[in-house]
Amino acid sequence: MARQTPATPLEAAGPPSFTVVVTTTGLSAIPFNRPHVARNELNYITEAVRNGFTCGDGPFTRRATALLEEITQAGEAMLTTSCTHALEMTAILLDLRPGDEVIMPSFTFVSTANAYALRGAVPVFADCRPDTLNIDERLVEGAITRRTRAVVVVHYAGVACEMETIGKICERYGLALIEDNAHGLGGFYRGRPLGSFGEMATQSFHETKNVQCGEGGALLLNDPGLVARAEIIREKGTDRSRFFRGQVDKYRWIDIGSSYLPSDVLAAMLVAQLESFPSVQARRHAIWSRYHEELAGWAEENGIRRPIVPDDCEHPAHLYHLLFPGLEHRQSFIAHLAERGIGAAFHYQPLHNAPAGLLHGRAIPGGCPVTEDAAGRLVRLPLFADLDEDDVTRVIDAVRAFEVTGRQR
Ligand SMILES: *Cc1c(COP(=O)(O)O)cnc(C)c1O
Repeated sequence: MARQTPATPLEAAGPPSFTVVVTTTGLSAIPFNRPHVARNELNYITEAVRNGFTCGDGPFTRRATALLEEITQAGEAMLTTSCTHALEMTAILLDLRPGDEVIMPSFTFVSTANAYALRGAVPVFADCRPDTLNIDERLVEGAITRRTRAVVVVHYAGVACEMETIGKICERYGLALIEDNAHGLGGFYRGRPLGSFGEMATQSFHETKNVQCGEGGALLLNDPGLVARAEIIREKGTDRSRFFRGQVDKYRWIDIGSSYLPSDVLAAMLVAQLESFPSVQARRHAIWSRYHEELAGWAEENGIRRPIVPDDCEHPAHLYHLLFPGLEHRQSFIAHLAERGIGAAFHYQPLHNAPAGLLHGRAIPGGCPVTEDAAGRLVRLPLFADLDEDDVTRVIDAVRAFEVTGRQR
């Protein structure tokens, strides 16, 4: 179907069109993820372009930063081009030297490890807890050596790591605590927002996250002593930010750094997304809860484990995962949903035994058996704000039509 040529740019900014894939059942396909378009998103993008301020640190960047600081209660937020780049900034700010060690989970995205490996540091991979799939806090102390400089936690699915224990260990050994909070925007641990625990935390606004601008991220700084240098690193190692504030009369090369600031056009997208955050979250929680309640009986009958959220954690409905008894069940389940036009996805492959993990890092003694086991059995269901009630019902019905056969456990 040909789309009509719109009369004005704002009409062009009408509802987005997505390719609708029709399944053999005549129903449209339900993708694993579809990025939500926030109410003011296209208007703000147009405004940013018309402002003539399309490079970084313009008016929309200031607004997005303020909204982000409000949600995370972080000391200071800086928008970045990605969570990957925010993690790279943490590695530069830590002044890591080749051979320094950084303890992190094996069950995470590659960027968590890459950022430190790029500075010559050694990622030391710890196993995860069987319940939350977060780094097992009982393994952290044993992973510390003379070369350990930092611990990086990842709040999987936005369910907090055991921050009390990990925070105390970092304090006792003088280690930096970093939160890779890519999943955790809007999550809480004991009533406190995720991203406010580490001296630094990172956010992702990649298309797959709850708040997205295609590609984007942020660095949260809870240690005021890091702010001035972070600003320089983010601006190619120059004091350009101070120059624009009129604090210096020319800007110069001060430190190492890179181009870590996003265009104000992307920040405009982000402002609209952050303004819509409460409604997006309400919708995501409603979907998460329907899955959780309506799949309880089926999960029990089939030996499938639903997500476990400890009492002191409030999760942000970032993802809904299921753990099957074995890899073969997981694979046939993904195929079963695909036949019904529903996208489901597995998740992280362990880093400790990945080619680059073996080359640049190492696992703690004892390895990461829980990670290896869970990675092969985990699957994520579609979860995005524009999934309507009928779609959710279709997913639930399709899931319940799957029976785990010949299982061992
Ligand atoms: C998405 C994600 C990242 C990377 O985010 P980008 O913004 O795409 O760089 C890093 N860590 C975790 C845990 C993630 O889920």
